[in-house]
Amino acid sequence: MRVLLVGGGGREHALALGLVRDSAVSALIAAPGNPGIASVAELRAVTPTDPTAVAALAVETSADLVVIGPEAPLVAGVADAVRAKGIAVFGPSGAAAQLEGSKAFAKDVMTAAGVPTARAYVCTDQESTARALDEFGAPYVVKDDGLAAGKGVVVTDDRSAALAHAAECGRVVVEEFLDGPEVSLFVVTDGEAALPLLPAQDFKRLGDGDTGPNTGGMGAYAPLAWTPSGLVDDVLRDVVHPTLAEMRRRGTPFAGLLYVGLAITATGPRVIEFNARFGDPETQVVLALLETPLGGLLHAAATGTLAEHPPLRWRDGSAVTVVLASPGYPVAPSTGDVITGADRPGIIHAGTARRASDGALLSAGGRVLCGTATGPDLAAARDAAYALVDGVKLAGSQHRTDIAAAAIDGRITIPG
Ligand code: AMP
Repeated sequence: MRVLLVGGGGREHALALGLVRDSAVSALIAAPGNPGIASVAELRAVTPTDPTAVAALAVETSADLVVIGPEAPLVAGVADAVRAKGIAVFGPSGAAAQLEGSKAFAKDVMTAAGVPTARAYVCTDQESTARALDEFGAPYVVKDDGLAAGKGVVVTDDRSAALAHAAECGRVVVEEFLDGPEVSLFVVTDGEAALPLLPAQDFKRLGDGDTGPNTGGMGAYAPLAWTPSGLVDDVLRDVVHPTLAEMRRRGTPFAGLLYVGLAITATGPRVIEFNARFGDPETQVVLALLETPLGGLLHAAATGTLAEHPPLRWRDGSAVTVVLASPGYPVAPSTGDVITGADRPGIIHAGTARRASDGALLSAGGRVLCGTATGPDLAAARDAAYALVDGVKLAGSQHRTDIAAAAIDGRITIPG
């Protein structure tokens, strides 16, 4: 099977490593890829959000399967353009990707499907925003309606900051605060059948102890020893299958990766958000533990044959990933700085580039790379992931020092 992988971040590097481990994958082409992906795939230049260009590349490279990593190409309809060429594609249609592309659309689907989530209002002016904020009270949650790379959400006790964020965004979703630890659950689906991957936890805030601004994600670990028993089955029954049924009912079945972001509250799991693709950096830890061949799994979802796919197999032990970010991230990340010590297995590239003159590795984005490691238990995986990150030199870089620490110390509690 020839696979074309679209994207060039840490998630795509993790997907590339998973795909080349599958003996059924005979060739991997990545577009545009990154210097880390270059060591396992042939790189091709493409604008990932250009449906015509990606579809043409899929034809030219004789791809049997196209895997679309990021959300922007999905929302732009890249999967539709590839499918129109008769090529199997892992990733939802543009219409179905609205589950991530619009928070208001996602809320509407959740309401229609009876999915447990925060009560919310869609607001477009200062007056209705203020009313919604006052109804729910602090902490205030204000979400940009559109795509914002995980950074469009403000959670604050400061009412004027909440109002200011709403004014900046224009159209927002204001919702009640959900209290409880968060879980990311990835579900592979062909629109009807659904196979859950291992739940993971990511770390959205920049600073230790969940302080500072929201980011794309600063680290992750899996599996989770602290979740209530039956969580995955409950979420499949109460969230995933009703959502998939509602999307089929609307004539826009969702096939690909449904990312369910959950808060485990005193009254049970509640959906914080849906995404239409693998999450970054949770993908790095979940795929590090997946034993089932990845290419075959994604192909089954892309071709509507997931119901016949064998149960997933997982490695024993745990995985941890720690993100190294540029100085200034997330507000004003510095790029173009030299990185050394990154040429080691377990280093997953996110925002890196090669200098044309001498091939030196440079930072090229806010989240630069991550150290991903497995181990017999969470503590061993964590030590190994930090050893990887500590070996990388990038002047002024930032990383959290508490990834997976609370889970190891048994400090994660569910309210109530
Ligand atoms: P989202 O982009 O919707 O995942 O939001 C980013 C982050 O903001 C989430 O991972 C949560 O940490 C936080 N968040 C979003 N919605 C809520 C909510 N209703 N209650 C509490 N925290 C939230």
